[in-house]
Amino acid sequence: MLEKVLIANRGEIALRILRACREMGIRTVAVHSSADRDLKHVRLADETVCIGPPSSAESYLNIPAIISAAEVTAADAIHPGYGFLSENADFAERVERSGFIFIGPRADTIRLMGDKVSAIRAMKEAGIPCVPGSDGPLDDDEQRNLHLASEIGYPVIIKAAGGGGGRGMRVVHKEADLLGAISVTRNEARTAFGNATVYMEKFLVNPRHVEIQVLADSHGNAIHLGERDCSMQRRHQKVIEESPAPGITEEQRQQIGERCAEACRQLGYRGAGTFEFLFEDGNFYFIEMNTRIQLEHPVTEMVTGVDLVKEQLSVAGGDILRYRQEDIRVRGHAIECRINAEDPVRFLPSPGKITQYHAPGGPGIRVDSHIYSGYAVPPHYDSMIGKVIAFGDDRESALARMRTALSEIVVEGIKTNVPLHQDILADENFQKGGTNIHYLEKKLGLSK
Ligand code: ADP
Repeated sequence: MLEKVLIANRGEIALRILRACREMGIRTVAVHSSADRDLKHVRLADETVCIGPPSSAESYLNIPAIISAAEVTAADAIHPGYGFLSENADFAERVERSGFIFIGPRADTIRLMGDKVSAIRAMKEAGIPCVPGSDGPLDDDEQRNLHLASEIGYPVIIKAAGGGGGRGMRVVHKEADLLGAISVTRNEARTAFGNATVYMEKFLVNPRHVEIQVLADSHGNAIHLGERDCSMQRRHQKVIEESPAPGITEEQRQQIGERCAEACRQLGYRGAGTFEFLFEDGNFYFIEMNTRIQLEHPVTEMVTGVDLVKEQLSVAGGDILRYRQEDIRVRGHAIECRINAEDPVRFLPSPGKITQYHAPGGPGIRVDSHIYSGYAVPPHYDSMIGKVIAFGDDRESALARMRTALSEIVVEGIKTNVPLHQDILADENFQKGGTNIHYLEKKLGLSK
């Protein structure tokens, strides 16, 4: 059992982790930048350490400062949250070498999944369906690459093995553009990710984004907790997520879910993780694995009743997974809106002081947010200021509760994207369910 956890993150996820620790009687250390002294979880933590100036590079990404903070406070584990150092294998390794528990998978698993080419190879071996593609890195043989693309069939997408955050990929619609696209993507990948490896996949034209949540312990047990649909995206950033995914049958869920759980057993996976898929014409195609807790985890918690962060803490402490697959039942429907401090029309960040804040409430409403009246949103970090999650017996009642919640929320002093969410919730096609990953950009007139 863990006794003291250092939370190496900020904002709503740091508060979420702190709450789980408190429920379990675990003491907490909040590390923060000098811009974040007033964060809610910093005020609530048992101990706090300022680890550097506002810039993330010098604070939340500063590995030596975080490890020293764990040493001086005698923490026994470090929770990385999401973003920042959460998928940095070198960090995980240094945490464990310094004698602390890293709340996440082993460093070599993070490394394997962090390189998309090695991740896809491992997934294929584990029987996970992948996008038809080059089956490994592309070399410089132009004829071979041209042949490969025509075999796969245009359009294809050239992707950087080390890419992330929606960067390092290029769609190719015709043969004449292929070789140029490979060399441009390769050069960009070398500069941006320090890794010139690129690979080729079939470009799926109208897929949905459907992902599977898994949990595993360090004793070889693994389960899945159903799926989330995160197709409502802008610039590859998820805006709304829901569980279950509209139109997915119980049989499809169990089939793909069990494959993911089995892949975890084969990999010796530990902790919470997500298998991301594109879903088209009833088929799943693996694109990548996230080896951490995800921002959208609450929708899964609402429909399964499992507290994923508490489970992360308990398996990190060495416990056997408390759930077996047959204990997991998906009940009702949950939807999450990400609330950003941004202009809802121009999408520019809108930091500043929140002069008034009223949170929504009522049956089935959950708000995961660190903001309060008088809190100033700093300009240095991501603009996400919280998440509103609505649960209902079915999708329609979850949507109705979300609409009520959005009409109640008051955030004054800064701009938020609440009007964008209200627009989406009023959209007929979204109400029907099952819109694809391009839907929002088309609706906003950002793409054809
Ligand atoms: P990242 O690590 O940058 O998030 P992903 O591999 O997860 O990269 O891909 C990000 C997004 O790019 C996907 O959600 C999807 O919108 C698009 N994409 C990636 N691969 C394909 C593909 N083969 N076909 C169609 N769209 C794709």
